[in-house]
Amino acid sequence: MDNIKTPKEVWGLALGVLVKKLPSHALNTWFAPIVAVSINKGRFTLSVPSQFFLEWIESHYSEQLLASVRIALSDERATFKLLVFKEKKKEKVENVSVLPRLIKVPKNNKVNKNYIFKNFIEGSNNEFAKNAAQAVSRSPGEPKFNPLIIYGGVGLGKTHLLHAIGNTILEKNPESNVILVTSEQFTLDFVNSLRKNNTIEFTKTYRKADVLLIDDIQFFRGKEQTQEQFFHTFNELYQSGRQIVMTSDRFPSEMKGLQDRLISRFQSGLSVDVQPPDFEIRVAILLEKSEQNGLNLKYDAIEFIARHVKNNIRDLEGAIIRILAKSSLMNKEIDFNLIRDVVQERVGNSHISELTIEDVVKKVSSLTQVKEKDIIGKSRKMEIAEARQLSMYLCRNIIGTSLSNIGFYFGGRDHSTVIHAVKSIDKKQEGDSRLRNQVKLIKQEFEFLT
Ligand code: ADP
Ligand code: MG
Repeated sequence: MDNIKTPKEVWGLALGVLVKKLPSHALNTWFAPIVAVSINKGRFTLSVPSQFFLEWIESHYSEQLLASVRIALSDERATFKLLVFKEKKKEKVENVSVLPRLIKVPKNNKVNKNYIFKNFIEGSNNEFAKNAAQAVSRSPGEPKFNPLIIYGGVGLGKTHLLHAIGNTILEKNPESNVILVTSEQFTLDFVNSLRKNNTIEFTKTYRKADVLLIDDIQFFRGKEQTQEQFFHTFNELYQSGRQIVMTSDRFPSEMKGLQDRLISRFQSGLSVDVQPPDFEIRVAILLEKSEQNGLNLKYDAIEFIARHVKNNIRDLEGAIIRILAKSSLMNKEIDFNLIRDVVQERVGNSHISELTIEDVVKKVSSLTQVKEKDIIGKSRKMEIAEARQLSMYLCRNIIGTSLSNIGFYFGGRDHSTVIHAVKSIDKKQEGDSRLRNQVKLIKQEFEFLT
């Protein structure tokens, strides 16, 4: 390959191609902020300012971007990769450019100032982990809590807690040598030190830590040499009473691919888990995050999001950010439709195993021949209004959806409308055997699902 163009030059060429294909507002909004990072074996790495950008470009422009990259590199099989430039992902961007530099473990500066205990919302799902993290921050090195391992699924606040520990210790003692790295960064530093014949420097840097905070140790899996290094670093720090905190995607003894001696060291301290948030905690988190983002959502909307977006906190946060972005970038009012779209994007079809309002509306639509769109719409035509009332009634009776949520779903009506609907269907059934049978039929069909 005689391609000696810099990433920036290649990106210039790619933009030249895109200019011909995309409208200028798209180019200005989505492509102007992109920075070319590196080219490696036909893979062009680009950085974007936020996760939202990344997702937006991937879902809307990935074909055009790929085509332009291939033309710019004169390589039909070239690919691209987008990285988020800011915050957590920054390390990854740096990784690419750090290679030729001398290894240097940055002191302190990897601790994200936004991740503090104060804005960590506590619930039964995470209080044990939060309390342990706070205890460690108060008295680092205490044998009971050394090492501390915070484990659990993605997006549940492990990284947040790890940084909160770092922030608290640094706040109390700014001189303290807090090293916070991902296991990937640790590995990379080690590999670089090998290449530079500089392992002594590497060893020294890490062993000078007063507090060592390592994120996502599951990535040590299968990396024997790195584990070896880590084992020695760990022992040295541990023996001199320095605090070590690690996060992981699972309980230490379930970590396959990690040396037994490491696992047994880990077990000498404390392992605490973070669990997915329950409904009330999801609501609390949504309220907090919308306030932080200056987004004023009605409680109904919050409840609606919390009922559907269930897996983790990152998704909840993502939903808020997406609602904001969608409304401001597309100049749309934040109404129920927008929120429903965002929630649908987030949860996809993953929730359909459980009975939802949508299922009820579908069923009623097929039975009454009134279109789903009309059922959740505004029309007051008699048969449509009746199908709507019937749907509301069934949501209340079969799935127990809250009044405000039903109202919200059916075009933003208030809860008194829903109460009225439920009452009137109750009443109508008394004298209307056709309706009575419809209700019975649907209830029977759904019964085994609930
Ligand atoms: P993990 O490391 O477990 O994958 P993160 O710590 O990165 O998860 O959390 C994902 C996002 O959710 C972060 O922006 C974090 O600030 C936020 N978050 C997680 N748990 C909480 C919580 N209990 N209160 C407030 N924000 C939280
Ligand atoms: Mg994390």
